[in-house]
Amino acid sequence: MISMKNIIKKYDGKTVLNDISVDFPSGKTSVILGPSGSGKSTLLRSLDLLVRPESGSVSFPDLSVNYAEPISKKDSFSLRRKTSMVFQNWNLFPNLTVLDNITAAPITVLKTSKADAEKEARSLLRQVGLEGLEKRYPSQLSGGQQQRISICRALAINPEYILLDEPTSALDPELETQVLKILEKLANEGQSMIIVTHNMEFARLVADKIVFIEDGNKVFDGETKDFFENPTPRIKDFLSGIS
Ligand code: ADP
Ligand code: MG
Repeated sequence: MISMKNIIKKYDGKTVLNDISVDFPSGKTSVILGPSGSGKSTLLRSLDLLVRPESGSVSFPDLSVNYAEPISKKDSFSLRRKTSMVFQNWNLFPNLTVLDNITAAPITVLKTSKADAEKEARSLLRQVGLEGLEKRYPSQLSGGQQQRISICRALAINPEYILLDEPTSALDPELETQVLKILEKLANEGQSMIIVTHNMEFARLVADKIVFIEDGNKVFDGETKDFFENPTPRIKDFLSGIS
């Protein structure tokens, strides 16, 4: 489990995460929802140290990091190693082939042999239905294919959690479906995931828990069923698309 406690993040004096404490259980899919600008990406990025909160802590069973104190190189490496981020705009390396995109981190960060990394990459490509595209460059793929490659790249370092920040919001509906199917499969296989999404149907389908954030405050943290079937007036408004 990941346990974040009392996370405070400010930009230019403005509080964007206001003392958030939240757990993300292992082997489950947690979905973060909330209006645009509410702090979802900031929270997710704190886990990967792409964002450094002013205070608060994040702990795993075997690692604990206090954001307010200096973080050693070793802890920062361990923390980053535990998660792997998939971004909205897939940002694959444009000058690398599909295979090299997937094997880059295992080879450079984990010191996996090229042969083993490529074997694993081919197996991941099979799992997302993209075998045969190893030698292509990102520009020769559709957005949906690129996003599926990004998921392979995230999985290739064998992280404890994959973090997905609006993984399908840049995709056309039919390409979105391809990507959501892969995520649904990963969820069913017990891959630990934290997903920020605006797709309520998908959230309802895959989430084991929902965290709803508004203006940097955690407004809901609980079971998916409660969120959708028993919404507070505020959540009802959100779900009906008012905001
Ligand atoms: P969400 O992902 O829910 O849309 P974000 O976490 O991206 O929200 O942003 C939360 C708030 O922090 C917003 O008001 C946003 O404008 C602000 N913000 C995000 N990143 C930065 C940054 N690098 N510099 C200044 N303000 C930022
Ligand atoms: Mg965001």
